[in-house]
Amino acid sequence: MPQTGNIIDGKGMAAQIRSELKATVQTLSHQGTMPGLAVVLVGEDPASQLYVRGKIRACEEVGIYSEQIYLTSDVLEEEVLAVIDRLNDDQKIHGILVQLPLPVQIDPDRIIERIDPAKDVDGFHPQNMGRLVIGQHGFLPCTPHGIMEMLKRSDISITGKHVVVVGRSNIVGKPISFLLQREHATVTMCHSRTRELAHYTKQADILIAAAGKAHLLGRDHISPNTVVIDVGMNRLQGRKVVGDVDFEAVRELASHITPVPGGVGPMTIAMLLYNTVEAAKQRCKE
Ligand code: NDP
Repeated sequence: MPQTGNIIDGKGMAAQIRSELKATVQTLSHQGTMPGLAVVLVGEDPASQLYVRGKIRACEEVGIYSEQIYLTSDVLEEEVLAVIDRLNDDQKIHGILVQLPLPVQIDPDRIIERIDPAKDVDGFHPQNMGRLVIGQHGFLPCTPHGIMEMLKRSDISITGKHVVVVGRSNIVGKPISFLLQREHATVTMCHSRTRELAHYTKQADILIAAAGKAHLLGRDHISPNTVVIDVGMNRLQGRKVVGDVDFEAVRELASHITPVPGGVGPMTIAMLLYNTVEAAKQRCKE
């Protein structure tokens, strides 16, 4: 189990998942199917470019075919939709990912809804989100899926636990709360209008921080023996990336804690690869 002391080693766990996927990709390739992922990047945002490079590198490591489509920041929404239509029809491509955020002239909801739900490996299409909410099988969004996998691989039981989630976004907070309830947790959701945040976070058996605020949660927010999962990735002025949790301050208190970087981030990419392989497997069955 990739774990050092009470630190959950997301980097090591993700490497393990990639090696498991590599074997599956080899088997699929021998059967005549090479999983393929298309990544669409609009504009020149340096952080987005970095994330896309990381995803492409991970595909290469596992043996997944990848295509990158770069569009300039002044591209029209109709042009992006035309790219999605082409990728929906492309037999080499099993998964489509549109890197967010998109420039202001493009409505992300329209773009996501255009992706064939069977190729929606980010799990953001309303059909896959709806399936998640009602407990049907579909692609799970990568970050919440990665968190569930981390808990499972760290032998942290969820049934009956009180999980406090800080953040209610569509890509992290909301979907993780449904996944946890599916696994029989009692979930409390907190957000920017929550009064006395510490009152809730201190009651958590498992605390999931996904607010996007550097060091929002410190010693005063956490009770001894809490499992702390830090999703936040906040770039400080010196360009250092830190989480939503003050790692050094709470490390000794927590029973388990994820570092930033090297925690949830690598798991997110690993689950993207997992979904792409699943999409290829599904196509094989058709
Ligand atoms: P959003 O900005 O979409 O959502 C943030 C949420 O946090 C909102 O629900 C907001 O409340 C809540 N919030 C903001 N400030 C506070 C506060 N002071 N107290 C309590 N709640 C607060 O962010 P995302 O969900 O997209 O991302 C969250 C963080 O996770 C970011 O740092 C992001 O970079 C990171 N991230 C990391 C990933 C990874 O792979 N490691 C993947 C995805 C995201 P309200 O709804 O009221 O506005």
